[in-house]
Amino acid sequence: MSTVAGILNDYETIRADQEAFYRDLHAHPELSHEEVRTADEVARRLKAWGFEVHVGVGGTGVVGILRNGDGATVLMRADMDALPIGEATGAAYASTVDAVMHACGHDVHVACLLGAARLLSSHRDAWQGTVVALFQPAEETGDGARGMLDDGLAGIIPKPDVALAQHVLPGAAGTVLTRPGPVLSSADSVRITVHGRGGHGSMPQKTVDPVVLAALIVVRLQTIVAREIAPTEPAVLTVGSIRAGSKSNIIPDEAVLELNLRTYTEQTRRHMLASIERIARGESLASGSPREPEIEVYDSFPLTENDGAVTARVAVAFAEHFGADSLPMELQTASEDFSDVPRALGVPYTYWSIGGTDPDAWAKAVRDGTVFSTIPANHSPLFLPVMQPTLETGTAALVVAAGAWLAPGSE
Ligand SMILES: [Zn+2]
Ligand SMILES: [Zn+2]
Repeated sequence: MSTVAGILNDYETIRADQEAFYRDLHAHPELSHEEVRTADEVARRLKAWGFEVHVGVGGTGVVGILRNGDGATVLMRADMDALPIGEATGAAYASTVDAVMHACGHDVHVACLLGAARLLSSHRDAWQGTVVALFQPAEETGDGARGMLDDGLAGIIPKPDVALAQHVLPGAAGTVLTRPGPVLSSADSVRITVHGRGGHGSMPQKTVDPVVLAALIVVRLQTIVAREIAPTEPAVLTVGSIRAGSKSNIIPDEAVLELNLRTYTEQTRRHMLASIERIARGESLASGSPREPEIEVYDSFPLTENDGAVTARVAVAFAEHFGADSLPMELQTASEDFSDVPRALGVPYTYWSIGGTDPDAWAKAVRDGTVFSTIPANHSPLFLPVMQPTLETGTAALVVAAGAWLAPGSE
């Protein structure tokens, strides 16, 4: 009887297939909620490996369940969607779809989870319990996990004891990184519409200028992080869009600002949202605006806050298997909707990262202090994880982490 870690000795038997699948997936990216081909490819393979398969969960979501006797239930999740970006990597297997690209590495996540599912399926003597492989649509739009829940996910799967997910990020390929507590920020977008009174650009005395009002709001908003949040508390507020007017000599009626914020506690999040509203209203009042501003919060992502005990258990398993390649993960300002699923199901979870950069290129960039300028990050048209050892590491990470609950004798 093999052990859970022993399963990975068999990785060589799936390597070629997994690489071919990954190249195909990378060449055929699909946008959020449109992951039809990807879902078909995933479902077909899971069925062939003996999984009970549910398709069309929350649109294009796929759930595979493999029951293998008494024991814990482990949910593992991969997101499937690509981004509206034209690929510029020049890879032989680059996107064949115009202006759509797997620029966030979700193709890596899908290939790794499928690889882990296949290995677990062909080595059922090495573990016991139930594996739930969840392939989620629409992570980039923040509503894919919620869509699967709304479509009855809880009634399809047995209640998991633990939920696991991973993301490929810049960093030496071959490394796995864990972090207890908050790991990814919560994110919110806010749209503020302020009102003025339009008129001729040569007669400002007859108008209330919403361009000046919007500019003052942009400046005042910068004081939230700088003056209202403790220096020890990370937070980001970016005004990513400001739109008003059509011509140099016309003062418009309104201006629209779009903001994005990132926070790591619910208290800071609420404080920042309240401050944004106070500033928008206060500056409108100060400008003599004829109407209260409209303030709309949208595209909200939850905080990803790793369970301490679950993360420690995974970190121990990683240290045992990966040795010096198991590292602490830095706090990330990116956001994810993965935690919507375990939070709704009342399940503890952990979310780790794996490196996707050529190890030599990474070491050189770290030595030269040029990581930010020379290593393409997620959402760049140049983002392309090295295929190996990234796929092998991501596959092993899932098997090793799940094994911490599924190895015979664990509970
Ligand atoms: Zn992304
Ligand atoms: Zn992503």
